[in-house]
Amino acid sequence: EAMIEAKGVKLSFGQTPALRGADLAVEQGEIVAVMGPSGSGKSTLLHCLAGILVPDEGEIHFGGQRIDTLGETERSALRRDRCGFVFQFGQLVPELTAEENVALPLLLAGVRRAKAVAATAPWFAKLGLDGLERRRSGELSGGQAQRVALARGLVAEPSVLFADEPTGALDSLTGEQVMDLLVASAREQGTTVVLVTHEARVAAYADRHVMVRDGKVASLAAAS
Ligand code: ADP
Ligand code: ADP
Repeated sequence: EAMIEAKGVKLSFGQTPALRGADLAVEQGEIVAVMGPSGSGKSTLLHCLAGILVPDEGEIHFGGQRIDTLGETERSALRRDRCGFVFQFGQLVPELTAEENVALPLLLAGVRRAKAVAATAPWFAKLGLDGLERRRSGELSGGQAQRVALARGLVAEPSVLFADEPTGALDSLTGEQVMDLLVASAREQGTTVVLVTHEARVAAYADRHVMVRDGKVASLAAAS
């Protein structure tokens, strides 16, 4: 059984159809790159899979549970307990320190502050961020900020990491470093990854590529 699956998902924003019958199944531990042109529906599909958006038609299954029929409170709890997120921009709270930002998902899950901050420590070593724990995140470089965002996405050991253009704001070398760390950390934890990107170089890190076109998913050959 798939870790997450979209079946016949349709979703419109007003008169604009974003998804027109999208099907995608991602296995546990798999890293899938969702590619396709701008406006094709990639982010909307990711938001449906993560229970952020609810489709107009079709089904979303997460860990064997149908989630599109759940209410906002239950979907919000599912995101908090089982999902990690890394986005392109603006995801860190600039006034908070790097370690406070990384600790946020644990604090939201009810972990006490001292314990949450302590749990962030290994991530600073693992992601090459030693010494930056107390730096305000507004004062980090782009690559540092994105590594902090990655640590935050993974610190609560989510079942699924949703990464939407995680290297989109970085130069190519920095982007490769972030992707190396993302993939290594996900493999180590057995995390399933849904990676939205329009860059072939970034998609090359995935086990499998799918292409979204006009709100539908077309599978491609396995990544080599
Ligand atoms: P992609 O991620 O492939 O660039 P999106 O999923 O962001 O595509 O968008 C798919 C379509 O839905 C586009 O036509 C986009 O303009 C539209 N869309 C996305 N989000 C919204 C929104 N919040 N309100 C209105 N239209 C939206
Ligand atoms: P784009 O379509 O430009 O790539 P993003 O993917 O960055 O946009 O958009 C992220 C959206 O998802 C925002 O609207 C944000 O409110 C929402 N979002 C991000 N993380 C979460 C979360 N953990 N729980 C609920 N909503 C979230």
